[in-house]
Amino acid sequence: MPANLKLRPRMRRLLSPAVTQAEWIGIIAWIGIWLIHPAMQFDLSMLGVTIGLLLVCRFHSRTANFLLWRVLGVTYIVMLSVGFAYVIGLNQELRIYGLPLAVTLVVGSAILFISVQDYLVGALLVWLILWSPMQADTYAGTQAYLLIFCASSVSIGFILSYSYLKNLRSVLLVESEFRALAETDYLTSILNRRAFMQSFEQLLDSGQAGYFIMLDIDSFKAKNDLYGHDVGDKILRAMAVCLKNAKGSHSFGRIGGEEFGVLLQDDDPRFARDFVLDLLQAIRSSVAAPHNYTCSAGMARFTPGDELSAVLKMADKNLYGAKRNGKDCVHLNGARLQPVAS
Ligand code: GH3
Ligand code: MG
Ligand code: MG
Repeated sequence: MPANLKLRPRMRRLLSPAVTQAEWIGIIAWIGIWLIHPAMQFDLSMLGVTIGLLLVCRFHSRTANFLLWRVLGVTYIVMLSVGFAYVIGLNQELRIYGLPLAVTLVVGSAILFISVQDYLVGALLVWLILWSPMQADTYAGTQAYLLIFCASSVSIGFILSYSYLKNLRSVLLVESEFRALAETDYLTSILNRRAFMQSFEQLLDSGQAGYFIMLDIDSFKAKNDLYGHDVGDKILRAMAVCLKNAKGSHSFGRIGGEEFGVLLQDDDPRFARDFVLDLLQAIRSSVAAPHNYTCSAGMARFTPGDELSAVLKMADKNLYGAKRNGKDCVHLNGARLQPVAS
């Protein structure tokens, strides 16, 4: 997906509160006009516009559908313009407000649309709707001037909308690049310790039960010393690929030099055992001899309400047990996990 489209949900989240506030201002102004005007007769059309505006405003702030959200933005501004055009058409003395109203709506809405196209559609519809009430009395015979106002208000709004959206997109793009950098381990391109621990804390906070697996490459220093640091790095990258290929984990990351963590959201002990034993098997064959390597693992089950530090300590203890038990194996609850004989 292009980066621009990926940013749209975030742009929407940022724009949404301002859009809702602006829509409420429009509704208050609309109600205010017919409340203030002494001779205004409230009729069914005005009731229809009022209910329509309230409904659009409500759905607009709540809908999860992105396309509908865009359509409702244009619908709102069209409905408001139709309402104002209607009352201006009924009350001659209000016609003088037609021009400032159109300019306010067109320029004011410029930074409330998520795309320039939506803005242009909305702005042109506003002018189209308010154009006819402006063709009598005060504005009669002034079409050329009105056209200048129309063209300049839409152009100013276009520049505002275009530059605002462009700047917002580039700020969000830079922000997401920095966020990815801050969360990614440079060598292996998987989560770094900070990001992994964050995901662990979120999982614990969400009240989930599952398993944490702490993995440590066996005799890694010897590999480094024997074959060089670049071979060590190749092993670390191969280990990360094994973690990526292991299906069923919630998240995984590099939590230390040659230490990795995996979270299983699944609380099923059989799934956890199969997962970790398959992973160790995949690790054994992930790099060809003589650079092949093995890994030891300590597992800890966590349940809602558990402290992160206590789960880490338990896994670390089990990892220590696995190392003392000859390495290349997994420990859970102080005992070695064995594959189930089929
Ligand atoms: P054990 O089986 O008990 O875990 O022994 P070990 O040799 O794996 O553990 P030890 O803690 O003695 O050594 C870890 C080594 O990992 C030391 C360090 O140089 C190496 N290391 C840490 N980070 C990196 C890295 O990014 N690249 C490489 N190539 N080596 C690293
Ligand atoms: Mg270690
Ligand atoms: Mg090690």
